[in-house]
Amino acid sequence: MNHDDLRHWSKVAADWAHDYHTHLRDRPVRAPLTPGAIAAHLPALPPEEAETPDAIFADFARIVPDGMTHWQHPRFFAYFPANASPASMLAEQLTNAMAANALIWQTSPAATEIEQVMVRWLGSALGLPEGFVGTIHDTATTATLSAVLTMREQALGFAGLEDGLSGGPVLRFYASAETHSSVDKAVRVAGIGQRNLVKVPTDAGFSMDPGALAAAIAADRAAGMVPAGVILCAGGTSIGAFDRIAECIAVAKAEGLPVHVDAAWAGSAMICPELRHLWEGVEGADSIVMNPHKWLGAQFDCSVQFLRDPGPQVRTLGLRPTYLETAGREEIVNFNEWTVPLGRRFRALKLWFTLRAYGLVGLRERVRNHILWAQEARDAIAALPGVQIVTEPSLSLFTFAAATDAQTEALLARINDDGRLYLTQTRHQGRYVIRVQVGQFDCRRDDVMMIAKVIADLMG
Ligand SMILES: *Cc1c(COP(=O)(O)O)cnc(C)c1O
Repeated sequence: MNHDDLRHWSKVAADWAHDYHTHLRDRPVRAPLTPGAIAAHLPALPPEEAETPDAIFADFARIVPDGMTHWQHPRFFAYFPANASPASMLAEQLTNAMAANALIWQTSPAATEIEQVMVRWLGSALGLPEGFVGTIHDTATTATLSAVLTMREQALGFAGLEDGLSGGPVLRFYASAETHSSVDKAVRVAGIGQRNLVKVPTDAGFSMDPGALAAAIAADRAAGMVPAGVILCAGGTSIGAFDRIAECIAVAKAEGLPVHVDAAWAGSAMICPELRHLWEGVEGADSIVMNPHKWLGAQFDCSVQFLRDPGPQVRTLGLRPTYLETAGREEIVNFNEWTVPLGRRFRALKLWFTLRAYGLVGLRERVRNHILWAQEARDAIAALPGVQIVTEPSLSLFTFAAATDAQTEALLARINDDGRLYLTQTRHQGRYVIRVQVGQFDCRRDDVMMIAKVIADLMG
């Protein structure tokens, strides 16, 4: 296969993609789950001889689509959708065509400079004050790990990088139980240890209690441990909890602790000025992560970390051996020094295309519709016999359940086997509940209103 073949097959692929997206509503959202069924289609060994593009493409079309869960399906209400707007898909095609590795500035100045401008654009779109800079990671998990490693080193006076952690003080981090498991992973991987992530009690609204945060920090200091940082959640994944950001940041600042805010899915909603009260005070954070690959439609992977001052993170993660220098340009930004991996994709292009193709007006309209429709779906489900709303909508996320956990689990299995919708579960206050998360880029009101209809059909 050469570049002339690529031209031909790119056009075939574009036609295939158009057809796929046109008929997506007719497909079951979640792949049928029979482990091994797809692998059984593939030979055990790789081919010795080259095969034709026709044969490869035919097998793709025959085997792969039916084995996929369709993330761009308008009735994907699971997890949080990983939205890919058509404009972002186009940008990704161009990124693929150039296939650059944007590890340092000179390996693609356009990638670094457009990334810098996109972070500025996005900061302004979210209402963040001037002064935040940032970078685009693959995922929020990497951004949060980067933030935790940085806070660890700040607490150690950057000695951990040279000396390692053994024999050092016991470092403590603070988060509520509503924060995402990526925070647990970060403290594990960063050598902090799960038991040193203090899960601070929440109040009646499932927000971190600032008084409990202050008490936990004081108790740890009294016990000879070293508080290192606070991780707050603006839109938890389970039920959409928001910590009391301003008050918790005030406690952290009074204790001299840095703060990282995880706004992975809900951060996108802050392009709507009327919603910004939900993360009021966020400008006091040292680090904020939000995923344009969730609600904004800049396709996976695209996770933006805003930093008040990149200095500590670059000091923690940056290395510049001779083979990564750009002669005479020591002052330029090399984004690999802001994150864990060296190699990096050119992720800013899809953000540039997406923000331009829909404009903030178009993106705000989607967010507002999703929130409105989630409320309408909540009301329709609340009116059904046999199920009840467990947590009220937080932006576009709410949960419901049947009378017992076993009935709820069985209902969820029936819903997902039915195929018209895809929903997922969480556990809230010990109870197994079904999450409804509205946020798919192409979903319409009737897609959302089908949730109550499917439940009624299956319970009837
Ligand atoms: C989705 C999500 C994450 C993890 O996102 P990745 O980009 O997949 O790592 C973390 N936190 C919250 C609140 C999320 O919604």
